[in-house]
Amino acid sequence: EHIVNAGGLWARELGRMSGIHLPVVPMEHHYLITDEIDQIASLPEGQRLPSCIDFEANIYTRQESTGMLLGTYEPRSTPWSLDGTPQTFGHDLLEPDLDRIADRLELAFERIPALGTAGIKNTINGPFVFSPDGNPMVGPVPGIKNYWTAVGVMAGFCQAGGVGKTLAEWMIEGEPSVDVWAMDIARFGDFATPQWGVIKSSENYERRFVMTFPNETLPKGRRQKTTSIYDRLTQKGAVWQDTFGLENALWFADSPEDAYEDPTFHRSRSHDYVAKEVKAVRENLGASEVASFANHKFTGSGARAFLDRILAGHMPEHGRVNLSPMLLESGKLNGDLTVACIDDETYYLFGSSVAQNMHLRWFEKHLEGVDDVIYKNMTDDFHGIAISGPNSRELLSRLTREDVSSDAFKFRDIRDTFIGGVPALCVRLSFTGELGYEIYVAPQYQLKLFEEIEEVGKDLDVKWFGGRALMSMRLEKSWGAWTLDFRPDFTLMESGLDFFVNWNKDFIGKDAALEEKKNGPSKHLSVIEIETETDVSGDEAVMHNGKCISYITSGGYGHSVEKSLAMTYLPVELIDEDTELEVEILGEFHQASVVMKPLYDPSGSKMRE
Ligand SMILES: Cc1cc2nc3c(=O)[nH]c(=O)nc-3n(C[C@H](O)[C@H](O)[C@H](O)COP(=O)(O)OP(=O)(O)OC[C@H]3O[C@@H](n4cnc5c(N)ncnc54)[C@H](O)[C@@H]3O)c2cc1C
Repeated sequence: EHIVNAGGLWARELGRMSGIHLPVVPMEHHYLITDEIDQIASLPEGQRLPSCIDFEANIYTRQESTGMLLGTYEPRSTPWSLDGTPQTFGHDLLEPDLDRIADRLELAFERIPALGTAGIKNTINGPFVFSPDGNPMVGPVPGIKNYWTAVGVMAGFCQAGGVGKTLAEWMIEGEPSVDVWAMDIARFGDFATPQWGVIKSSENYERRFVMTFPNETLPKGRRQKTTSIYDRLTQKGAVWQDTFGLENALWFADSPEDAYEDPTFHRSRSHDYVAKEVKAVRENLGASEVASFANHKFTGSGARAFLDRILAGHMPEHGRVNLSPMLLESGKLNGDLTVACIDDETYYLFGSSVAQNMHLRWFEKHLEGVDDVIYKNMTDDFHGIAISGPNSRELLSRLTREDVSSDAFKFRDIRDTFIGGVPALCVRLSFTGELGYEIYVAPQYQLKLFEEIEEVGKDLDVKWFGGRALMSMRLEKSWGAWTLDFRPDFTLMESGLDFFVNWNKDFIGKDAALEEKKNGPSKHLSVIEIETETDVSGDEAVMHNGKCISYITSGGYGHSVEKSLAMTYLPVELIDEDTELEVEILGEFHQASVVMKPLYDPSGSKMRE
């Protein structure tokens, strides 16, 4: 039997009946309807005014008969009935409080003077439900069998069709027909408590019409989850963002006082700092926190066979790791993961932290009836530090008694060992394209590991780097990233991840992938270089001969190759170095060309040294 919680204003109460604490909250919301306005009444037959949003005033308007409807998302929200929606409440209206929106009305009257002189026919104040990011929360609830939600639907009139279609496809076909990540309930985890939900939902309501810039991180509900080195990195000038509730460093300023950034579409002041971080990693030695990577552990006599079926790639031997795509039945991407084999019955999957609950849901679905595999999401049990750069082996050798020479500790080796005097899983792998190691320890050991790195790395001039430097370096290597370039909108063959597939075995999605392999994909993930001083931020149009042929999935500045780069799925016939492309950035078209091989270390020799 399946349960769908589509309880709207009562979703919280319904959820609690099943032990689910949804982070949604109703917000009071006002709009008013004017009396007839002469200019509207005299419009020619069949002509209507367009619906409008004024982003500065936070107001919206729509023609309502011969008058206007005027609504506003006021800058100070009023969450309603925090303790729960009364059973006796019948979608009633609330007492209007015009004082609360008086300043917004003034702005509206300034913008549309006819509103200021029109009489008010009706004032409405009603509660409607918001989620922490304003999007619906739809889909199977991770960790609870056969429980679905369709909640947090704040704009029900316009969203209901999509929500219903998504649920129907998911139930009947096993997966939605398009990537619905933005409304998947799995994008939240246990960090999304009801209290946090009120804070973030209020922020979302208040920012409903406020522009969020590509480099901007929103301030409310922060430090919900931190690691033990949060204060240390803050002291070093870390500028933070939160991912799946956890703070992680974006870049490092010179000091806490220097750690600020204005919202902008253009290159921000972080640009030069990130350049220094990239230079340090490329030429010497960098360290970064890796607490926000997901870690899934599988143990038991059936673990290898289970993983071999859900992953499309090759299973590693003892002490080794492999990259592997994971597919949906349709052959679309469901994950790009690193699988590690510790011994016959112990495996780890490392992957995207934001996707951890989505993946947990997938694993649990396929583990139904399997009794020889024990699975646990260990993400919060491992907080790591990665070291990367030509001098990272020297640093590692000072932190451990193990032989870390290239022959003894090879590229893609994993060791269950001691690093910096604490128990650690150490993987020789890096997303920077340099020689590098990811060191995972239990959270209570992370501070000790940090201090050891600081101490023994002093004369090596180890520099801390953040997520922006990492994203810059992976672009230079032409590596895609989950939620951006790799997601269920794209298939195995389109993404190029077929490179890692073991075609000599059965795996989920194989039939669809084989079918596509036979004919070849019509588009393929590509890197392009753009002539621009303003880097892309995602979703920009890619043009060829005046026609839009694709859109940008991710991009930014490649600091060591000194080029503005982006990733996009190009029609295969256009993947040629002579193809002339244009990318529309902030309303202007910029010339672009296809990058045929990674701009940085195309042979990959540096990380294998
Ligand atoms: C003032 C105001 C203005 C709005 N303006 C717009 C707009 O312009 N555009 C727009 O798109 N949206 C607008 N909305 C929002 C829209 O009304 C909601 O998004 C929509 O109603 C949400 O639909 P829902 O089905 O998710 O929840 P609801 O409409 O709240 O429906 C939930 C249903 O679940 C039922 N239920 C509860 N508990 C149980 C139970 N235990 N068993 C069985 N049934 C149960 C309830 O009786 C109810 O029928 C506005 C809302 C307000 C208040």
